[in-house]
Amino acid sequence: MTNVISEQRILPMEPQRDEYGFWTHPDFFEPADGREYGELGEFNAWLEVKGLEYEIDFYERDDGHEDEFGCADWHPSPPRGDGWFIGSIHDTEDYPVCIWLRHLCTCMSCGCTDDHACVDEHDTPCHWVKVDRAAGTGICSQCAPDWLEKLAEDN
Ligand SMILES: [Zn+2]
Ligand SMILES: [Zn+2]
Repeated sequence: MTNVISEQRILPMEPQRDEYGFWTHPDFFEPADGREYGELGEFNAWLEVKGLEYEIDFYERDDGHEDEFGCADWHPSPPRGDGWFIGSIHDTEDYPVCIWLRHLCTCMSCGCTDDHACVDEHDTPCHWVKVDRAAGTGICSQCAPDWLEKLAEDN
């Protein structure tokens, strides 16, 4: 049983948006008990179990089109950084939203994550030198020199 975590992972896929521009990933968060909206914290708990972080993008209708339904002409662009994929594009009470997801990665050497970067002596946060979003692992810029050296020794 080495694949327990990866089996739970939600894998990026190409959105199949409907005529209104909506789409939800088949493995996206579903509120318990068939409720329409999750309770406070429920979504965040799901993210944590899945090892994900999220960003929300809001759709703004052009003036004069406020009453229109859907967002078929909307092509949200991913947030800064790598590894983002669409979890859901759906309507809310106010406007359509796009929920971007990505797997948080942990440095295999020092254990820093997307959430908690380590910093060098100039207080510059590290970045990923090598990252495998699907596996949730990476090597950060602080650790890369040592890691490359170790790799060379191992071979
Ligand atoms: Zn590191
Ligand atoms: Zn780091």
